[in-house]
Amino acid sequence: MSTLVDLRSDTVTQPTPGMRAAMAEAPLGDDVFGDDPSVNALQEKIASLLGFEAALFVPTGTQSNLCAILAHCQRGDEYIVGQMQHCYRWEGGGAAVFGSVQPQPLEHQGDGTLALADIEAAIKPDDPHFARSRLLALENTLGGKLLPFGYIEQATALAASKGLGRHLDGARLFNAAVAQAAESGGDARAEARRIAQCFDTVSVCFSKGLGAPVGSALCGSRELIARARRVRKMAGGAMRQAGVLAAAASYALDHNVVRLADDHALAQRLAQGLGGLTGLQVEPPQTNIVFVDLVGPARDESKVLLEHLANQGILATGLYRLRFATHLDVDAAGVDRAISAIRQFFKG
Ligand SMILES: *Cc1c(COP(=O)(O)O)cnc(C)c1O
Repeated sequence: MSTLVDLRSDTVTQPTPGMRAAMAEAPLGDDVFGDDPSVNALQEKIASLLGFEAALFVPTGTQSNLCAILAHCQRGDEYIVGQMQHCYRWEGGGAAVFGSVQPQPLEHQGDGTLALADIEAAIKPDDPHFARSRLLALENTLGGKLLPFGYIEQATALAASKGLGRHLDGARLFNAAVAQAAESGGDARAEARRIAQCFDTVSVCFSKGLGAPVGSALCGSRELIARARRVRKMAGGAMRQAGVLAAAASYALDHNVVRLADDHALAQRLAQGLGGLTGLQVEPPQTNIVFVDLVGPARDESKVLLEHLANQGILATGLYRLRFATHLDVDAAGVDRAISAIRQFFKG
């Protein structure tokens, strides 16, 4: 029976037969010469989908954010960013290491936003004592949370009014767009574009919920993307017959955007299935990530619980705060297995 139910991350998906076929059939060239038709087609597709002049295919979201920050900022500049954002906390300090760009991290509010007053207070005057405030970086979704669209408009307008560039780490932009479309009754692609158009650069991951094996894209103006292309080269990210990967990403954009709603529904199913247990506090999910806090006497049980789950072929991550991500390779039966294994643990 037991196939693995891998809820550690939405990065663990395997390419489907359709995606593999698209990869196998992709026309290829040397992308460092600009000759790979599949890379060029993907870059045009994502740029036009999100409403930008240009896009750059990169191996990872980390490199995409690095290219963006270094395209916006010079040595001695700073970017304003949230404490929990990937491009501050989870990228090895790359912007500082490779670009001598200083982060100015801010605390998040409960809904994941950075308070407008905090952003404004963090923007330094032009004075030799200070690093030059150059960029505001936001992330959507952030830990599975959808940033309110009205907030994004206000925060990016504030940044622009102070002469700052605006970057979105949209690793999960399409999860945000699908959730926003469910609220507005709109179209997911149109919502993705509406969010993206508040920014000068947007990074999206194909290797998360979209289900491609590798790859991200950075979108922006021709000028910013030309600068990002230099950084990608320096970072060792200029690839050759990368069309074999770009074809998977392109397939993902065509087939796997709207279905993210299924992942969100499974996250709801998981959260609801864990209701009413003592020792657990479930944060109601907005997209595809469910956080579960162990509380009271169960607080130190997370390692034991993760082991109990792993013994039944169910994988998750976390310490006090367990994290379950739904994705293409998880179905309702898998989620139900996770629910009953967790319930069994707390009853036993
Ligand atoms: C996953 C992720 C990235 C980049 O991840 P890579 O593993 O480098 O592709 C960037 N930002 C966010 C918000 C992410 O979740």
